[in-house]
Amino acid sequence: MIVIGGGLAGLAAGVALADSAWRVRLFEQRPFLGGRATSYVLPDGEHVDNCQHVTLGCCTNLEDFYRRVGASNKIKFFDRLAFLDPQGRRGEIRAGSLVAPFHFAGSFASFAPLTWLDKLSIARAMLNVIQHAGDPPELHEPGGISMLEWLRRRGQSQGAIDRFWRVVLVSALDEELDRTDARFGVDVFWKAFLSSSTGYRMGVPAVPLSNLYDGCKAEIERRGGEVILRSPVRGLKLETGQLAGVRFDENREESADAYIFAIPHIALAELLPESLKQADPALAHLDKIKTSPITGVHFWFDRQVMDEPFLTLLDAAIQWIFNKTLLYEHPEQSLSSVFPSTPAQDEPKNASSVSAARHSSQYLQLVISASYDLLQKSREEIIDLCLAELKHALPKARDAKLLKATVIKEAAATFSPEPGVDRWRPSQTTKIPGLYLAGDWTQTGWPATMEGAVRSGYLAAEALLRASGAPNAFLQPDLAPDGFIAMWLGNSRVS
Ligand SMILES: Cc1cc2nc3c(=O)[nH]c(=O)nc-3n(C[C@H](O)[C@H](O)[C@H](O)COP(=O)(O)OP(=O)(O)OC[C@H]3O[C@@H](n4cnc5c(N)ncnc54)[C@H](O)[C@@H]3O)c2cc1C
Repeated sequence: MIVIGGGLAGLAAGVALADSAWRVRLFEQRPFLGGRATSYVLPDGEHVDNCQHVTLGCCTNLEDFYRRVGASNKIKFFDRLAFLDPQGRRGEIRAGSLVAPFHFAGSFASFAPLTWLDKLSIARAMLNVIQHAGDPPELHEPGGISMLEWLRRRGQSQGAIDRFWRVVLVSALDEELDRTDARFGVDVFWKAFLSSSTGYRMGVPAVPLSNLYDGCKAEIERRGGEVILRSPVRGLKLETGQLAGVRFDENREESADAYIFAIPHIALAELLPESLKQADPALAHLDKIKTSPITGVHFWFDRQVMDEPFLTLLDAAIQWIFNKTLLYEHPEQSLSSVFPSTPAQDEPKNASSVSAARHSSQYLQLVISASYDLLQKSREEIIDLCLAELKHALPKARDAKLLKATVIKEAAATFSPEPGVDRWRPSQTTKIPGLYLAGDWTQTGWPATMEGAVRSGYLAAEALLRASGAPNAFLQPDLAPDGFIAMWLGNSRVS
C-alpha cells in the first residue's frame, strides 16, 4: 500500500499498518519527515523548529505514537504553567491536592492577573461545562456557535475573556474567539482542565522536532516497506474512472492496492481530478475549509535573559516564550523542577541557576497564534515589536545583545476551527475504492493538532484494514476522567 505525505498523519498511518505486517511505501515531497511539526537547519547551521510544538496530557494518541516510534523519552512534561502580565503580576496554573475538577482551585484563587469578578464568572462557566459533562446542548445549534458567543451567554467579564479564555484558546486552537466553534473551545477545557487532573500537563520536545521521527523509517522498513523522500506526487492515474496509481516527476508511476493521501487539504484539492470530486461529494468542498496563521520568532541573545522553561504573556502580541536553551538540556529528565520557586512553593534551589551559569548565550522562541495582524508586517517590524515586549517582560533582556533573529510566518498553519467547519471535513474513508484520507483536517473530532493528525492516521489505517477483512484497532481512548468527575459521571450513567 502507498502513503502520500510524511507528516504526523501519514507517519501514524504508515507505522500502524507496518505494525500490522503491511508493506508500506511512504512518499514525502520534502527531504525530511514531520510535515508542519518538523525542524530544519538554517543556512548558518542553526537547528530551528517550524515553530514550537507542544502536546498535552490529554493527547493520548500522540503519546501512543511517540511510544511506538521510540520518541516518548524525548518529550519533557511540565505540571506548572506560568503567566505574566504587563504590570508584572504573575499567575500560575498547577494541580494542587484537591481532586478533579477542583485541582486548580488553589492556584486559580491566587492567580494575580485576574480580579475576583473575573474568577467568579470563569467558575460559573466551568460549572456549566461540568454540569453537561463537557457537552452543553447549545453547542449543537445548527451551524454551531462561536466561542465568543458562548462566553457572552455565560456572562463572562471582559477581563475573563481577554486574560483567560482568549489566552488559552487562541494558543490551543490558532483562531480568534469570534471565529472559533464553541464546541472546540469547550472541549479544550473539558479534556485538558476539568475531567482529569493530568490532562493539562504540557509536553515539550527536548530535541529538535525532526529527531522525534527517527524511529518511523526503521519501523516501516522492518516490515519490508520504504520511506521515499523528495518524491512529490504530481497527479493521480485513473483507469475506467477508478484510482489506479500515482504519478511522480519524469513520468514515473507507482501503483498499489490501497492509497492513503495524508497531505494538506489545499494540496489534495489541487491533485484530485474533477471526476473523483463528483464521485464523492465529500471531496468537493475541501476549499471551504479555511486556514489561519501562526508566526514564530526566534531570538538568540548573548546572555541568559530568562530562567523558566516557558512563559505565557498576557495583554501582549507575544503569547508564549520558550526557553529553548533550557528545554534542550538533559533531554532525558523531566524539568518540572526548573521553574523558579515562587514564595508559595518552597522548592529546593533549582537547576536553572546551574544552567544559567553554564550558558553564556540563550535561544528563545516566541509564538504568536492567529497572527493575522503580522502577515503584512515586515521581518524588521515583527522583530522590533517582539523585542520591545520581551524587554518589558524580561528585565534581563534590557541590557542583552540580540545576536540574531529569525521570523517564520506560516500563513496557512492550521485549518481554522470556525463554527460549523466539521461539515466540510471528510471522513478517512471515501467512496472511491482504495482511496483513504488522513490529515488533521479530516473528521477526527479534534482541532488542527498533532493529536488530531495522529488520530486521522490511525483512523485511516483502521478503515483500510477493515476493508481488507483483517480489522485491527489503533485509536486510543481519551484520558479517563478522575476524581469527583469520575464518580459523578459513573453515578449519572447508572441513574
Ligand atoms: C507554526 C505551527 C505551530 C503549531 N503548533 C502546534 C502545537 O503546539 N501543538 C499541536 O498539537 N499542533 C501544532 N500545530 C499543528 C500541527 O503541526 C499539525 O496539526 C500537524 O502537524 C498536521 O499533520 P498532518 O500530517 O496532518 O499534515 P502535515 O504536517 O502538513 O503533513 C503533510 C505532509 O505531506 C507532504 N506533501 C504535501 N503534498 C505532497 C505531495 N504532493 N506529495 C508528497 N508529499 C506531499 C508535506 O510535505 C507534509 O510533509 C502547529 C502547526 C504550525 C504550522
